[in-house]
Amino acid sequence: MFDVSSFRRQFAFFHHHPDWVYLDNAATMQKPDAVTEAVSRFYQQDNSNVHRGAHQLSQQATAQFEQARQTIAHYIKAQYVHEVIFTSGATAGLNQLAFGLMHTVLKPGDRILLTQLEHHANIVPWQLHCQRYGVIIDVVPLTADRQLDLNAYQQLLALKPKLVSFSHISNVLGHIQPVQQMVALAKAAGAITVVDGAQGVVYQQPDMRQLDCDFYVFSGHKLYGPTGVGVLYGKTQWLEQLTPLCGGGEMIDSVSFVNTTFNNLPFRLEAGTPNIAGVIGLAAAINWLQQYNNKLIIEHKSLLLNAFFQGARQIKGVAILSMPVHNAGIVALNVDGEHPSDVADILNQQQVAVRAGQHCAMPLFDYLALNGAVRVAFAAYNTLDDVNQCLLALEQAVEILTA
Ligand code: PMP
Repeated sequence: MFDVSSFRRQFAFFHHHPDWVYLDNAATMQKPDAVTEAVSRFYQQDNSNVHRGAHQLSQQATAQFEQARQTIAHYIKAQYVHEVIFTSGATAGLNQLAFGLMHTVLKPGDRILLTQLEHHANIVPWQLHCQRYGVIIDVVPLTADRQLDLNAYQQLLALKPKLVSFSHISNVLGHIQPVQQMVALAKAAGAITVVDGAQGVVYQQPDMRQLDCDFYVFSGHKLYGPTGVGVLYGKTQWLEQLTPLCGGGEMIDSVSFVNTTFNNLPFRLEAGTPNIAGVIGLAAAINWLQQYNNKLIIEHKSLLLNAFFQGARQIKGVAILSMPVHNAGIVALNVDGEHPSDVADILNQQQVAVRAGQHCAMPLFDYLALNGAVRVAFAAYNTLDDVNQCLLALEQAVEILTA
């Protein structure tokens, strides 16, 4: 059995906020003490810039930083450590891809394939460059139960897109996509595959060798790590073809006013001083997380999810958009006829933290013909008490708003 009490005790946040029910986990996760301690230890004891100092302190900071890269590469089972590129988050990773491929691989008239439920971070960067370079974007629609339409996906793959990019888990509905199958189908159609793992990485340890995608991006802060740090994983052959989005120090081999030659991977794609403490904090999060059996965490989260579904279905006037199966622990819902922000406001008054709105997925809400939803997102440190308090607050919201 997963011991949620001892897990939760490792988060100082909950000591500071004993009365809050934190269910905004899809926006960002709370940080265990192991992470906050690693970050402050770096600043208090080890702070120096990396990769450039002649002195021992810089060499030690560099060793820690590169050790963190190894930890992360090992965690995601990358074939080579240099395939882990540090970014400021999933958004930065996707922007690097859209920019970097557009100049080299994607040519006017080419097609790329996205899906109807993508986060704006997996739409806007492509759009910015596609418009300029004449690359066509196709979109995989959803079925009636708001799952990706895999038949339509296969038909769109027949148009031979150069690249397919989709999220591992929907940040609105919580639905887990059949990523393994989708990557295999895209590869069979000859496409470059990009997986937005922003929500996926915390649900399941991503295995790059098994998944075999060309790129996978995620943010540290959704994996118990600090904000402002993320990973762009890519296969060496593809990373080498990316035009760097940022130029500057460390990413070069030689610079003159006539020409610049670039450094090797991973440095070629990491211009400037990186978020050193963030990277060390992210590795600390992964090291800490690895002491837990993820199968038990998944079971615990599905217990919470099922209890929530059961309770919410009994509240008259609550319409649930998410499906309970193949769901990573996120529920989007509405109260009939009420604005999602009004519902979230009442939950806030009851000290239940959720998010309301379109969750950076406007095309999904256009498709659903809704102006938004309330999102309840469970994490491993949530308890059945949290579920019950949220349900009570939801009942009150319905009562107040429909009175
Ligand atoms: N993709 C998905 C599916 C997300 O949930 C998020 C964060 N909400 C992002 C991309 C962007 O992540 P970040 O804001 O950390 O860059």
